[in-house]
Amino acid sequence: MHICVTGGAGFIGGHLCRRLLDEGHRVTAIDNFDPFYPRAIKEEGIDDFPAKTFTLIETDVCNTDTLLQALHGKSVDAIIHLAAKAGVRPSIEAPMAYEQTNVGGTQSMLEVAREHDIDTFIYGSSSSIYGNNEKVPFAEDDPVRRPISPYAATKRSGELLAYTFHHLHDLTVHCLRFFTVYGPRQRPDLAIHKFARQLLTGQPITMYGDGTSSRDYTYVDDIVDGVLHSLRRAQDQRRPEYEIINLGGSDPTQLRDLISGIADALDITPEIEQLPRQPGDAQRTYADISKAGELLGYAPQIPIEEGLRKFADWVTEYYADRTVLDV
Ligand code: NAD
Repeated sequence: MHICVTGGAGFIGGHLCRRLLDEGHRVTAIDNFDPFYPRAIKEEGIDDFPAKTFTLIETDVCNTDTLLQALHGKSVDAIIHLAAKAGVRPSIEAPMAYEQTNVGGTQSMLEVAREHDIDTFIYGSSSSIYGNNEKVPFAEDDPVRRPISPYAATKRSGELLAYTFHHLHDLTVHCLRFFTVYGPRQRPDLAIHKFARQLLTGQPITMYGDGTSSRDYTYVDDIVDGVLHSLRRAQDQRRPEYEIINLGGSDPTQLRDLISGIADALDITPEIEQLPRQPGDAQRTYADISKAGELLGYAPQIPIEEGLRKFADWVTEYYADRTVLDV
């Protein structure tokens, strides 16, 4: 197949493109190398891809006309839309930019799908949509009317826009709600990567809250498996469908246990600086993955201890020959 992956140079996108290429697909990635974190980390993930089967279009997903032209006559079978401004806390500082990329960019890619008769649209959604859901684990039919950050609101908006295109234009849409993804080349703003840099540079770990908040960490290979299962299902459908599906580890870890886990994996004793809880952060996330199991045969394979060891191996090597650790 020929798959278009937006955000293809990003953390999840880079891993996904590699697997698609390994499985024999052609991939066109769209990415504007948003300066949220250094380009070098993104390039490390994609710079050995074969030019014969991998094309990178460096542009903004909001540039609908450019993308319509670039993909004209290219017979794209599916769009996997991962491009976004990610991160809860920075979205509180810059809500307009998040709205533009995450809402406008999703609308733009839906328009590209419609114009080019691409019948499969897989959308990288987020567990943040559940906000402070009291009920655990979080299931797809739980109410999601109260997002607690601009980021969460924009991700939910993307799901709604995609529904409208499914309804009007017979597009098959899977909105995959990812739960905190980690692994090699993880975004530097996310806890595991940030803690690792603090440990490697002998700084105290900044722990927001009392350490009892918890996250359902999901190893990136498990997420990529889920996306590939979703792609296969979407392509097998005789009739267009719209499904929202959680992809998580379904085994939450408390923040204080995560800190000792990453410190153990790096073999460094942590010093902890406790700071107040951050606005916009949910107290916990926990995925009910029974729907993903039923529809996709999804079953996460990598437990947190193993995933942290793999991350520690990458992070140690990545920063071994770099003097600037404060990315
Ligand atoms: P990432 O920042 O590494 O990847 C996003 C990519 O999108 C980046 O390479 C960036 O340059 C690109 N991008 C940003 N704005 C763009 C624009 N206007 N035009 C073109 N490209 C643009 O983030 P990630 O962690 O790989 O996340 C990928 C997707 O998964 C995002 O949609 C995010 O909301 C979602 N998600 C991620 C997590 C997680 O834990 N990493 C959890 C839930 C949802």
